[in-house]
Amino acid sequence: MNSSPILDIQDVQKAYGTFQALKGVSLSVRQGEFIALVGPSGCGKTTLLKQIAGFEDPSSGAIRIEGQDMAGIPAAHRPTSMVFQRLALFPHMTVAENIGFPLKLRKTPPDEIKARVNEMIALMELKPIYLERFPKALSGGEQQRVALARSMISSPKLLLLDEPLSALDVKLKKVLQAELKRLHRSVGVTFVHVTHDLEEAMMLADRICVMRGGRILQLGEPADIYYRPADPFVAGFIGETNLLPINVKARDAGGITYESAEITDTTTTVPANLVADDVKSGPALMMVRPELFRRLRDGETADCAIDATVSEIFVKGGTVQYRARDTMGRDLAIEIQGTSQLPMQPGEQVRLGWDKKDIWVLKPEDV
Ligand code: ATP
Repeated sequence: MNSSPILDIQDVQKAYGTFQALKGVSLSVRQGEFIALVGPSGCGKTTLLKQIAGFEDPSSGAIRIEGQDMAGIPAAHRPTSMVFQRLALFPHMTVAENIGFPLKLRKTPPDEIKARVNEMIALMELKPIYLERFPKALSGGEQQRVALARSMISSPKLLLLDEPLSALDVKLKKVLQAELKRLHRSVGVTFVHVTHDLEEAMMLADRICVMRGGRILQLGEPADIYYRPADPFVAGFIGETNLLPINVKARDAGGITYESAEITDTTTTVPANLVADDVKSGPALMMVRPELFRRLRDGETADCAIDATVSEIFVKGGTVQYRARDTMGRDLAIEIQGTSQLPMQPGEQVRLGWDKKDIWVLKPEDV
């Protein structure tokens, strides 16, 4: 992977009237990277894609693609291609005409268009007999493949995907997720992919960019975002989690010493590599992902433990999810590997233990 940025976004702001949809976004994407853009509805994901694609102009800031400033360059002349959630296939054109359309616009000779359409059909693993069909005679997943084929035919450097899989059923979505990953590997194009599906983001992306309220909160590799979230919002947005309040008594280069009314901890210390930089003496949160908990039977120990009463149980198949209330009345999420004998039952009082190596201590939102 080449490390020079293909896309460099510097302090981009976008206002619609008095509403500030992007409040200073800076992002650098490397050649060949797969970036997933996630965040709550209305946080500015689509707006950011539209500025990159050139469908809209930023109010201020700069967007460079391969070092070239995109200000004033219309969408058609940018090396980008955008695929939308609601696919915009032309209903009156055949599949072949749809896929070849971007090249026809560029007045590419018909023979060359035909050859490229055939290449795209093969790349997207679409059957050649579909070429003469109209979009309505294809399934939703096939139509989405045609849309992807059309977006790839002009060899874009940057593929901008705005929730292209969200309208598909779960099974088809899984198939197309695998397709996207394969496509990304085989063509080496840089992807910026907006999705609401966090599992999809974790699965596909080299780096995940979490946005909220027109700003980027965190950009990092999936494991970093999951295990080292920048703040409680990111922690809760990327997967379910438990944020247990603690009081940090002291912080030094080695880590923290803390106290907690409910957590039993043999050392009451956390090493520095598991503590966010901005944590200081005073209130903090210990993040414990649901899958870190295990039930401690009599005589069993763990680095940390908490007492709780099981309230709900949801058998998901491979894993079982539990809800429990701790001694402070807080709701806990627990996920345990599924077995035929369930280790906990609703109403049971249990002791839950966890090891420290995968926890993360972070600053509460309002401190
Ligand atoms: P979703 O996940 O729901 O698609 P999003 O993160 O993609 O959301 P955007 O579509 O980027 O959100 O919209 C960001 C904000 O800007 C929203 O509050 C939206 O209402 C507003 N917005 C978008 N386009 C316009 C416009 N043309 N005029 C006024 N407001 C707009």
